[in-house]
Amino acid sequence: MEPRVHNTLMKRKEEFIPREAGSIYMYVCGPTVYNYIHIGNARCYVAFDAIYRYLKYRGYKVTYVRNLTDIDDKIINRAREEKTTSENIAEKYTRAFWEDMKRLGVEKPQVEPKATEVIPEMIQMIEVLVDKGYAYEVDGDVFFEVTKFPGYGKLSGRTLEEMRAGERVEVDERKRHPMDFALWKKAKPEEPKWPSPWGEGRPGWHIECSAMSLKFLGMGFDIHGGGQDLIFPHHENEIAQSEAYAGSEPFVRYWLHNGFVNVRGEKMAKSVGNVILVKDLFDKYNPNVLRNALRILFLSTHYRSPIDFSEDSLTEAIEALGRLETAFLNLEHILETTTTATTDSAEEGALSEALLTIRKRFEESMDDDFNTASALGATFEFARKINISLDRGLKRELVLKEAKTVLGELTDVLGIKLGLTASPEIFLLPEQLKRLSEGLSSLLTGFSVPIGKGTLPMENISAMVEALLIFRGNLRRERRWREADRIRVALSALGVEVDDVDTPKGHRWRLGLQAFAIRGNIG
Ligand code: AMP
Ligand code: ZN
Repeated sequence: MEPRVHNTLMKRKEEFIPREAGSIYMYVCGPTVYNYIHIGNARCYVAFDAIYRYLKYRGYKVTYVRNLTDIDDKIINRAREEKTTSENIAEKYTRAFWEDMKRLGVEKPQVEPKATEVIPEMIQMIEVLVDKGYAYEVDGDVFFEVTKFPGYGKLSGRTLEEMRAGERVEVDERKRHPMDFALWKKAKPEEPKWPSPWGEGRPGWHIECSAMSLKFLGMGFDIHGGGQDLIFPHHENEIAQSEAYAGSEPFVRYWLHNGFVNVRGEKMAKSVGNVILVKDLFDKYNPNVLRNALRILFLSTHYRSPIDFSEDSLTEAIEALGRLETAFLNLEHILETTTTATTDSAEEGALSEALLTIRKRFEESMDDDFNTASALGATFEFARKINISLDRGLKRELVLKEAKTVLGELTDVLGIKLGLTASPEIFLLPEQLKRLSEGLSSLLTGFSVPIGKGTLPMENISAMVEALLIFRGNLRRERRWREADRIRVALSALGVEVDDVDTPKGHRWRLGLQAFAIRGNIG
């Protein structure tokens, strides 16, 4: 069975048949690097990252191109504001974008072209369009003539009349039709410029993506993605230029568009002023927790549907992450300590059965237009079964090992990386670490715990927890249960969860959500 995808061009779900069997060529419009990205932009890159990861998991050879728009009016304006060059602005925000992508766990595409590296290809395309009569020059500007391309409007489903009615910008007298758009813009004083047959200037935004996608993927590539706001005019124009240039169709086989992130029903956008920057969230939350929680938040909704972002929705996602982590860490724990080789309970049957169906449910969901919401739902259900089986005492190594592998693999397809809450020093934010270490330190003093050779370093969470647990173990051996329990409760208040199963290594403990509790307000 081939996957089915919703194609914006056909306005329906279709069987997904790539240009070449077994290979997929995909392009997603990257950022215009003039500012930090917000949660809405992040959703787009995470949604297509999950699609990219899944296609690879399914065995396709995927070539993924995501561009950087490093020349544009917005960049030029920003450079003026910051009294620097466009190159500096593009460089600064490209780095910031990469940093955000890395922290969100978004994989790097194979090719990440910058628009300014593909100028000769853009000029060559525009020359062909002029030669073929699809484009005309006025005063050093070159426009695409939309009435010459019969298919204009096929992606957005609008007629030229409707577009004209919806047009609010001032009409440029030099255009033959109000919807004609710039392929090449004559240089204004002190703007970045390149030589061309029409004089010095720079490319328009739409031709950049046509030139970059065609250069690296060729005509008729498989998937072109972006947010729904790019359908018109950006992608409509890409189709017109590319098909007019190539003299054939289709430019792209399947068009995929993600829905918006809204705040109280309104699109998150710089122009509205309701943006939450990705980098600001990463300053407030533990990065590993935030990465996973944001992905859970985004992927719990189908990529085409809107998401209403709020602090509550993020908190819910963090709690959901806790359930996945619990299953994963408990599996890890039991596999390190107390497994058996022999068949035991009826519980084994229940988990084996879940193992037989989970991959199928996950794959069927993803094959249905990349329904990550349903795939994630199946994963949560699986984690719940793992937790129940472990609670009821399932210890058979074979089943548990497989459960851990499958849980790890499926969450990885969605870019969720489990098992990171096991090493507190690495993943806590400085402030969280400080709070925890101060709390532990006052517990050590409060209970007069002897700490062996001198004082412990304040940052050494593990050493402090372990000193408290050894002390607690001694209390228990002396049957001083109430005191021992007070230590457990106090640790729990700090977010240190102690497991009361005795292991050869002593007691097992881990950090619960309390340790990286949310601080402050977002937005
Ligand atoms: P931009 O930098 O505005 O070109 O946006 C980069 C990508 O993010 C594009 O694919 C946009 O469609 C997408 N995008 C922008 N705002 C939102 C939003 N609020 N929700 C979802 N996607 C968005
Ligand atoms: Zn684009």
